[in-house]
Amino acid sequence: MIKEEEIWKILEKIRDPELGVSIVKMGMIKKVELKNRKVLVECELTTPACPLKKEIEESIREELRKIDGIDDVEIKTTAKVLPSRRVLPEDILPNVKNIIAIGSGKGGVGKTTVSCNLAIALAQNGAKVGLLDGDIYGPSVPKMLAIKEPVRTDGKKLIPPEVHGIKVISIGFFITEDTPLIWRGPIISGALRQLFTDVDWGELDYLIVDLPPGTGDIPLTLAQTLPNAHGVIVTTPQPAAYSIAMKALMMFRKLNLNVIGVIENMSYFICPHCKGRVDIFGSGGGKELADKLGVSFLGGIPLDTEIRIGSDEGIPIVVSNPSSEAAKAYHEIAKRLAGKLSIISYKLLKT
Ligand code: ADP
Repeated sequence: MIKEEEIWKILEKIRDPELGVSIVKMGMIKKVELKNRKVLVECELTTPACPLKKEIEESIREELRKIDGIDDVEIKTTAKVLPSRRVLPEDILPNVKNIIAIGSGKGGVGKTTVSCNLAIALAQNGAKVGLLDGDIYGPSVPKMLAIKEPVRTDGKKLIPPEVHGIKVISIGFFITEDTPLIWRGPIISGALRQLFTDVDWGELDYLIVDLPPGTGDIPLTLAQTLPNAHGVIVTTPQPAAYSIAMKALMMFRKLNLNVIGVIENMSYFICPHCKGRVDIFGSGGGKELADKLGVSFLGGIPLDTEIRIGSDEGIPIVVSNPSSEAAKAYHEIAKRLAGKLSIISYKLLKT
């Protein structure tokens, strides 16, 4: 009769497909229990949005089914997100494990739409997620998520409203829609800092920061305030957008923000009538940009009328139509991003 120790030995040979390290050595296997020819394996992933979840579970099942004396394999998968940032003593957000700033070279490429849908997609996978609208000059997150209620406070900190499973803060909650903000330099920096520090974020697995377009005071403040945040660039596929996105990417690098990858928005058009695909803005620009800069291409999102309607009505497509191609694309990207962050976290843990 097979013993539990032997099962551990078999599991030790299974490697994480991306890191090539044994899943037992990585500490992913929390428990192995053998009862009446049935084995129960408890597996803890490094993110609930793990892109390799199915692959890992399949490998475990396949290896254990080969064993004589085992009729049934049950896998219980949980997840504990690791920090991809070194939390220094002076860190202003010590309970936030991953900070991802979403930037773009210019406005209108769909950066805020991407930020909202990505944040919700991560939460739909079971992660604790916050979304900070860093566009102090033109905050559009409140409208895109239809948040109207006033922000409450517990007397010490602001309580961020929660919608679709994410905590949200925006300067837009404190000004009226037609108030132009003419703040500059230090006042802008101070306002952004307050959105980080004066808000009760609690414990977060991921904090998504929607940056204003271009290169200005806000990315600089972010880099100075949270030097260990990561960056993602949103671009559209045409060559003109490409060179502007490149500028944003170079700025991130200058500020020592680690750029994880590029997301291509409006990659192709889905005709609402025939559901056919058309490459309105050309294709491949995002991938080309990512390759040129040696960062990951995280994926493309179609140009879809339903996305625009979702933004206008305050119900992002990952909520209004989760089975749409666009929602699936956001989920794929969320998983790839979470996977990349997990790799960074694991490497950080080992150094
Ligand atoms: P940015 O933050 O880059 O300025 P937004 O996210 O505000 O851009 O998007 C600009 C407009 O484009 C919004 O009306 C939004 O609904 C729309 N939009 C963004 N992405 C898509 C898409 N993939 N398909 C259709 N409309 C989109």
